[in-house]
Amino acid sequence: MRDFIGQRRLLARLSERALRGDVAHAYELSGPRSIGKRTVAIRLAQTLLCTSEPHPAGGCGTCLACRKIDHQTHPDVRMVGRLVDLEKENDRKQIAIEQIREMQQDLALRPLEGRWRVVVIDDAADLSEHAEVALLKTLEEPPPHAVLLLLTTTPAALLETIRSRLVPLSLRLVSTTEIAEGLADRFGADAPRHAAAAAGRPGLAIALASDEGARKSRRAAEAEFYRLVSSGLTERFAWAADVAESDRDPQKRNEAIETRLAEWCELARDAAVAPHQVGRALRPERVSESDRLAKAVSQRELVDFALALERWRRDMVESNVNARMLLELLVLKLPYAATLREAA
Ligand SMILES: [Zn+2]
Repeated sequence: MRDFIGQRRLLARLSERALRGDVAHAYELSGPRSIGKRTVAIRLAQTLLCTSEPHPAGGCGTCLACRKIDHQTHPDVRMVGRLVDLEKENDRKQIAIEQIREMQQDLALRPLEGRWRVVVIDDAADLSEHAEVALLKTLEEPPPHAVLLLLTTTPAALLETIRSRLVPLSLRLVSTTEIAEGLADRFGADAPRHAAAAAGRPGLAIALASDEGARKSRRAAEAEFYRLVSSGLTERFAWAADVAESDRDPQKRNEAIETRLAEWCELARDAAVAPHQVGRALRPERVSESDRLAKAVSQRELVDFALALERWRRDMVESNVNARMLLELLVLKLPYAATLREAA
């Protein structure tokens, strides 16, 4: 199989079955962000629509069909995701029923170029209630040429009636060694460092290795965390107010908050386990800060805080939680350690 970091076994199994004609009409691909859900979906579409003979598992990557799929111009492959229209006041936070209806009209027709029509819904947890109900009809009676791939970080957010019609595929974290090997050709000596920093998520490793912006925003989130940890309440509340009002698109603001919660959870977790030297650090480049935080704050407080961050992150994704309120609770629960000031 051509280049692909992680999820190789899953994709190989899926592709080999598909090549024998054993394809389900609908799959659920779940797992954390940046773990490879979208890549698996695209490779499965390429497996089904590749025109090279004999059909290679995962697609050849070079024929016209494979290239069109890579460029999202293949007429038989449709990506459905949340639309954010900033021009309209009521920006769409969710995948709307109209999007599902449009997809269904298309899906009912015979494929134009291959034997299949593939629909990728990413993230399926963004489907509005009406959209979910509409989609259910397709899942109950899919056209013979239909393959639907529902991608999500939060499978529990989907209707049970939908989930019961999907073949579940859960994607697992990838070993650091495998990620480092995958990056080695392109990024040479820096590969192991970026692989370690990604803690099991190949997409994150590639972003960190190839995108200075991704590295910068990661460092900024770390510095922001240490600055807040070493600040008093006045400064913390001012920060909460700033972030709550930071973006005119609430969805974007919520994503920025969610990213911080995920990143900070890793920093809190590293500090909580630091005294025990168990498990690898999720942020190896911040080991000294984790040690200092662990010395200043009780382990219990750190564990509670890490768990709260994870819970809030899920609330952010799954429900319409009030951002300002959440941020205020967060700064109240955030541990205090004056010694982290210089890390900020
Ligand atoms: Zn091909």
